[in-house]
Amino acid sequence: MMIIDPQKITSLLSGVPFKVEVDPILDKALELKGLSLEDVALLLTVGAYGHIPLQNKIIETAGQVKEEVFGKRIVLFAPLYLSNECVNNCLYCGFRVENKKAVRKTLTVENTVREAKALEAKGYKRLLLVAAENPARSNVDYILDVVNAIYKKTGIRILHLNAAPMSVKDLRRLKEAGIGVFQVFQETYHPETYEKMHPSGNKRDYEYRLSVMDSAIEAGFDDLGIGALLGLYDWRFDVLATIFHAHYLKDKYGIWPHTISVPRLRPASGSQLTETPYPVSDEEFKLIVAVYRLAVPTAGVVVSTRESVELRREVLATGASQISAGSKTEPGGYKEDEEHYEAAQFGIDDKRTLDEVIEDVARLGYMPSLCTSCYRAGRTGETFHEMAFSGNIKDYCSANAVLTLKEYILDSANASKYACEEAIKKELGGMSDKNLKFGVEERLLRIEAGERDIYY
Ligand code: SF4
Repeated sequence: MMIIDPQKITSLLSGVPFKVEVDPILDKALELKGLSLEDVALLLTVGAYGHIPLQNKIIETAGQVKEEVFGKRIVLFAPLYLSNECVNNCLYCGFRVENKKAVRKTLTVENTVREAKALEAKGYKRLLLVAAENPARSNVDYILDVVNAIYKKTGIRILHLNAAPMSVKDLRRLKEAGIGVFQVFQETYHPETYEKMHPSGNKRDYEYRLSVMDSAIEAGFDDLGIGALLGLYDWRFDVLATIFHAHYLKDKYGIWPHTISVPRLRPASGSQLTETPYPVSDEEFKLIVAVYRLAVPTAGVVVSTRESVELRREVLATGASQISAGSKTEPGGYKEDEEHYEAAQFGIDDKRTLDEVIEDVARLGYMPSLCTSCYRAGRTGETFHEMAFSGNIKDYCSANAVLTLKEYILDSANASKYACEEAIKKELGGMSDKNLKFGVEERLLRIEAGERDIYY
């Protein structure tokens, strides 16, 4: 079975008739069954034609699907960059080995704990560790030391990891150490573009990178994160290829990806690319988020601080379910709390703090969540997706969002307190299951009395 078939993707995209009927596809999507590759090609083509009323229909339906699966909750997290000492030479990245201007740094284990504590103090419970590829510096032994130290010395509840592909044996050690989601982006699934963008280093091997999710599954991971860096090649190709990859994982292993990230190329100091080869407009970006949501309804669709405040607000209605906040994309950035652009992987647009983002999310009518419960309660992989497909995960999301937001109000919130209290009231008011509501209210009292980390 091919992981992805570039020829098939191209032919699916070129075979779409000019006049298309999206209603039957959207009806199917509303049943939370996901979409075929043919359906996805059609929706993406509508976007490329720039047909605004149809685009709006797609986007609206994606918002409905997101609420059917996850309710109002929006999960928040931060990346923690461990190292920018990379052996690769990706033309779009500020960490590339040939960027001689970058100030290079790999955090000591002690300093990663210091960073995690700084984030914990702001209220974060889940972090995404990000390591540049460097067998001598940020290798698996180092990452394991970091993971063990953060779990032991901080209150961070789940660590996800974005790192280079590695052996099944190494991946198994990371899984055993408690990594939740293992994430690797293919960057572009288009082989010729991939070759151009990665002139040297281990990352040059397209097939090796593409097969990393197979290795992760063999190592025991069942929560996997995939994505394409939008702007390197035709976005329709890369989005369809990402969904092709998702179908492959489902067909071969019975597991949908746990997250699909939607990174868009941003300027990075010291990167070789001075212009985006295939620009993606904001309208197209919203459509892409929506199509991921419709095609893989149970995936966390993740939008980062690379995007503007306005656009991040808008994608909450088009299917995004997880957002990073208050991010620094350079190792050591949180403690130093100032932007050292020369050492960052890419520039960020939304520079608001976690508290500001939480307040905004709550005021927009969503439910900010710092939940980490599924990973810790064993609702992972197939179990998670079955519950999500049948609409059964959203009660957990709702209850745990309320409980974690209460902790946040008591321990870390600043200006967001009022908006958070209102969001909790609204969420409780909308709970139709009386037993659940009663249980949550009882747990809220326990949290007020000082208990922590209570979850469903
Ligand atoms: S209940 Fe599970 S799916 Fe919902 S927010 Fe918590 S960890 Fe995520």
